[in-house]
Formats: sequence, structure tokens, C-alpha cells
Amino acid sequence: MSTSKWIFTAALLVSATAAAQVVESRQPAPASTTQITPMPPLPAAAKPSPAQTTQPSASAMQVAPAPSDTVQPAPEQAAQPVATPESQQAESRVPTPLAGAQTLTMNDVVDRFIQREHELMKALATRTPVVETYLQNLTADPQLGAVPSEDHYFLGRMDMGETVDRKDYLKDQDKSMETRLMGGFNKLFKVQYQPLGFSWMVYADRADFDRSHYDFRYVRREFLGDVRCLVFDVTPKKDSGKGRFLGRIWVEDQDYNIVRLNGTYAPAARNSFFFHMDSWRLNLIPGYWVPAYIYSEEGDFSAGVKNKTAFKAQTRIWGYDLKKEGGNDELTQIRVDSVKDETASVQDASPLQAERQWQQQAEDNVIERLTRAGLVAPEGDVDHILQTVVNNLEVTNNIDLPRPVRTRVLLTAPLETFSVGNTIVISRGLIDVLPDEASLAAVLSHELAHIVLGHNLGSKYAFNDRMLFSDDSTYNNLGFRHIPEEETAADKKAVELLNNSPYAQKLDNVGLFLKALQARASQLNALLTTHLGNPLAQNGTVNRLSALATKGPALDNTKLDQVAALPLGGRVKINPWDDKAEMVKTAPVAITSARDKMPFEVTPFYPRLARWGTSNTPSATPATSASNSPTGN
Ligand SMILES: [Zn+2]
Repeated sequence: MSTSKWIFTAALLVSATAAAQVVESRQPAPASTTQITPMPPLPAAAKPSPAQTTQPSASAMQVAPAPSDTVQPAPEQAAQPVATPESQQAESRVPTPLAGAQTLTMNDVVDRFIQREHELMKALATRTPVVETYLQNLTADPQLGAVPSEDHYFLGRMDMGETVDRKDYLKDQDKSMETRLMGGFNKLFKVQYQPLGFSWMVYADRADFDRSHYDFRYVRREFLGDVRCLVFDVTPKKDSGKGRFLGRIWVEDQDYNIVRLNGTYAPAARNSFFFHMDSWRLNLIPGYWVPAYIYSEEGDFSAGVKNKTAFKAQTRIWGYDLKKEGGNDELTQIRVDSVKDETASVQDASPLQAERQWQQQAEDNVIERLTRAGLVAPEGDVDHILQTVVNNLEVTNNIDLPRPVRTRVLLTAPLETFSVGNTIVISRGLIDVLPDEASLAAVLSHELAHIVLGHNLGSKYAFNDRMLFSDDSTYNNLGFRHIPEEETAADKKAVELLNNSPYAQKLDNVGLFLKALQARASQLNALLTTHLGNPLAQNGTVNRLSALATKGPALDNTKLDQVAALPLGGRVKINPWDDKAEMVKTAPVAITSARDKMPFEVTPFYPRLARWGTSNTPSATPATSASNSPTGN
């Protein structure tokens, strides 16, 4: 490798690290979520970092899985916290027994994680998880920094087998491989986002992750959450082809699974480039770390930079455990119990009872179908919180319905609510951005109003044939939009419900939230495009609960104690394996400038990693670096 090229590679790595550092130091995650020791100040961008200059070659190094003192420490090593007791480390579950004295060379470690990576691809090959990417194009704002100028949304199912089997595609000519790699834009100035591109970094290299295509250089040990990792820089070998992974991987030190990948693909073809990604995995099933979050970002707003193309995007993967469509194995899994009908009513149903049962049947059909499609979370903890808020509204308004009102979480990011029968559904993205309980009550009250006013929709779904459609055509087959008259009536009733409720004194916050939403509405068209219910805003104008929009103080970005809306990702986390939704537990982080507010924005992921079976699993916290909880401000 020529010197000049080596420096170029190093510079890329250094600048990637520097970028990550900027984010980290600007937005420190709460102390509990990060144990990573910051790197020492970086030298000038063109020079390699001390770690790279002083590292002996990886193959020359000896590492034992347990005692850290047998590992040649990187310069940063001295400051690394070693929290895990040695005894705990000794019980490492390694797929194949370690040779003799439990001492692995770095060479062995590299072989091990290459092997584990291929085993992961095999293990997930039959899976078709849901993949969601939400992207915001950015523009520079003198006060707020990079702010969204427009947005894009992608949702689909990814066939993990299909993409792993990329070997076949590689035999095609280079051009098609580039399109397949889709790590970036096809043309620099005619931006075309390729949805699959954002999920590309679920693996480092689907076909050729091996020693003949890559060099691996040990960097240091580092904790990600509770998990001690070995960090490696990965560089493609010369002439190993276009679109190879270039970056850094974190390998947990028990089974040697890759838990995080950070970097890009290189070299890119002329007139195109690959964007940068930070990809995280969670230990959701024994022995495997499955891809869960990918953050992508491009853009440089420093003075003098000519290319202002900039975006940031969050990709979430969930629904690994969803049934693949068309499988016959379901029949063999059904357990036939002797079930006694406990609804034992001796009388026949009256016409009104029949009507209610019919609606119940439709409601159950729809919620079950949406859950099976990976769009609605199974009943869980978040529902209890939503239920409490709905109960508060019901009790203080003396609402007594023949059937109980239930709540469920739509797993997707776009801001939306809808109700089917007596079930209120609210999207993960909307729960995320709401600043407080009163605002949550406000959006729920609109749906409760529909229920109270008898705007029942969807009784046609009581016919089971209407549930027979493919998962990816769900949005074409289900819809719960109300006519404008019902929307107006529901808003009016909602304000009435709120005024009688414990939230009556806090409606200023709701007004503030609606103002914040209005301020960003024309830039966030994709986030405001609903797929099943009525939108909160149309053509850039917020129309939901407009009577409350004038309440509260004026929106003022310079007021640091005014938190009108939150970034995405700070409240609800999804378990990518079983789709369960949970509230994120983060300590409040002080907002120190207007740029910290980031209303409705996407931020990098920083999940707290934990091993399967420990108290922090199954799902780690996808704490965004901006989990500015309103409770602390
Ligand atoms: Zn409505």
C-alpha cells in the first residue's frame, strides 16, 4: 500500500471519528448510558491518530479473553474502565471451545468474528423483518444549526435471505453491483435515495467478509453499555473491488459477535458516493446480535464548504419474529385446547348487542391483522400509560361506555392517531415528540371523542375475508379516515373533554406543541403523512385541535426552558425481535442552547448494549443523544 493512499485512508477514519466525537461532546448522553472514554484530542486531520501510528500489527498481538493485562493496550487503554469482574469474564460462552490455555491471538479473534458474521447471516436468512427509514434533508439555520428542509419516509419488509445471497449479483457487471450496493446517491446533484441503501449496513459485507478482501487492525478495548468490546479498524485490501466496507467494528469479547459497525463503503464509482452509517445490533436471542438501528448522516455546514447536500436518517429494523407469509407451518403449531365458552349468556343477543359484538369483531380483526403485519405492537407497558391517560379523561368526564376503551401503539414514525371501534392507536413517532402528558392527553382526547360520539369506523372489517391481504398491502386495504364534519365534531368534543380533565390547567403546553408543529409542518411532509388515520396537518397547515393552537406563550427558540416538542426516538423503544414497545428510561439532559432542542428531528442512536439474559435485556435503550426529557426542564 502506498504511503499517500495510507494517509488518505487514515484521514477518512480520523474524520469519521472526529465527526462522531463532535456529536458526542455536543450532546452527552446521560452518564449511565455511556461508559466510553472519549478519545484524546485528535491531531490534524491528515495525520493518523496515535493509536494508528503506535499499533503493532494485529497479527503480532496476543489477547486472552479474560485478563486485560495480556492485551497490548492502545494508548487510550489506560483510561478504559474495566467494570466486569474477571470471574464473570471467565464463563464466556464461545461457540467452539477455546484452544488450550484459553488464549486467543488477535488472529484467532479475527477468524472468530468472521465466522460468527457468516453464522449470523445464515441464522437470519429466513427472516423478513420490517425496515423503516426516516430521512430529513438539512439546511443551515443561523440560530438552530442544521434544520430539516424536507423529509422522506420508507417502510418495507427486507428479505434477509435475498440480500445475503448477493454473491449471484456480484457476478453481474460492475454497474449493477453499484446499484445493488446502493450505499449512496446515484448522482450527486440529482438525489435519489434508495431505500435499501439505508439498511445496507446490517452486515459489513454480505459476500466477501474475509481475510482475502479485508485487513483488520486491532485498535483497543472499549465498553458499549455493559458489553466489553474489542475494536477493529477494517480496510478493504487493494484491488478488492468497489463498494467495500471501510470503517470500524466493535466485537463483544465473549462469543466474538460484531455488535456495532461504523463507516462507509469504498471506493465509490464516479459521480456517486456512499454515505456513512453507524449500525447497532442487540443481543435479543441467545448467541446472536441482530441488526436493530442504523443512523446515516452526510453534510458539512462549516464555512466554505461548497456541496451543501446534507441529510440525516434513522433506520429501524423490527419484526424479526414475524411469520413469513404463505408458510404452512402455522397449522402444525396450533395447540387445540378444550376451551369452554365463558361468555355463557343464556339469552340471544338483542339487535343492539349484536351490533356491538359485530363492532368488537371488526376491532379485533383489524388490531390482530395490524399486529401480524408488524405495524402494531403487542399489548404491553406503553399501553398501560396510554390507558391511564384515557381513564383520566373518561373518569373526569363521566364517560361510561358499554365496551372499554383500549389503546395500542403503532410501531411507525409518522405522527398519527386513529381509532378502530373502541381501540385508540397512536404512533411511536407521535408519542416520541409529545412534550408532556397533557399533550398526550390532547391527541388521545380527539380519538376518545370519536368513540364517544359514535363515529365508529371499520365495522366492515368484521368480515374475515377483508383481512386476507398481503402484509405489504396493508395500507391499501385498511383505512380509518373520518369525513371532515366528524373531524370538526371530534375536535370540539376533545376540547370539552380536556377542559373537564386534570389536564385543563396545562393546555398551554398543548398550544405550544401545536405551534412547534406548525413551525415545521411545511418541511416535514413525510412525517405528517398518515397512512391509516386523519393527518394532524394538511398542506403545511396544522388543523388538529386548532382551538388550542392559540393557547400558551409564543414559540421562542431562544428560551431554553421552553420545550415545545421533542426529537424522535426519545420515548418509545421497540424490541426488534418480538415488536414489544417499551418506554425509554433516560435521565434528563440539560439543554444548553437552542440547537439542543431539535424538535421532530432525528438524532444518532446510542443504545445501551447488554447481553441476553442480563437485567438490561432483551432490548437495549435506543437512547438518542438528545433525550431531553421535558420532566427535567
Ligand atoms: Zn379524527
